[in-house]
Amino acid sequence: MKMAEIAVAIVDLNGCLIPDKGVKATNYFQGLEELSGLIEAANSGSYPKIAFCTGRERAFVRGFSQVVGYPDFYSIVESGYGLFNPATEEFVANPNLTEEMIKEFKLVCNEAIPLLLEKYPMLRRYVGNEIAEALDLIDGGQITIDDCFKTARILLAKPIARRLIYLTNTTQALDITPAVVNKETGMELFYRETGIDPKKTVGIGDSKGDLPMFKKVHFVGCPSGATQECKEAVRARDGHVSLFDHVQGCLDVIYHFMKA
Ligand SMILES: [Mg+2]
Repeated sequence: MKMAEIAVAIVDLNGCLIPDKGVKATNYFQGLEELSGLIEAANSGSYPKIAFCTGRERAFVRGFSQVVGYPDFYSIVESGYGLFNPATEEFVANPNLTEEMIKEFKLVCNEAIPLLLEKYPMLRRYVGNEIAEALDLIDGGQITIDDCFKTARILLAKPIARRLIYLTNTTQALDITPAVVNKETGMELFYRETGIDPKKTVGIGDSKGDLPMFKKVHFVGCPSGATQECKEAVRARDGHVSLFDHVQGCLDVIYHFMKA
């Protein structure tokens, strides 16, 4: 496999390039410096592009880019709500999403989310996203995000069945988006807007929310801290499960697929 065969690496942020709260990442700052070098090389055209694919919003991507450098390419924000180029501030909203869908989505969320917060006081409603809802589990004790997911799926069974909302989770958060918005439809928009050949892509994620993105990329990989479900998905695709965590694991996956 030649370097030229990879045109872009699509990398999740939380749990991948950014450690979850309270988690210590190995050689993290050296890794960020290396990532910063790759972004600079990508911007000058001498390296494949780096794109982030995150459940978080534009401002979050902008903030992380202030640290590691601004990739001059579209990133997928809010799990597919739109594409955002942190270098140019260009934004493209997912055209599948109508005003009517947004209205219904907000109604459902404003009803269901307070119930979830009441049942699980250690969940926090993430403030910042324009559309997508994220409930972060802050030190759940005996409660796991899987418990929260199961309850949410029951609570939201009707709007899920009506294909009004899409529910997924990461290792530390529940992600609720309008059904037409997920990392899969986000990737479809990404290909339409960038003209990137899907065969020249590597996707890196660490949890359930990244599996829709994996469907749309050619090569897949994950850092060592990925969920069991995610690692199995990577192995099933003959991908690369790194022995390294977080940013070091992501760099390892990128290098693995770029090796001549
Ligand atoms: Mg993640």
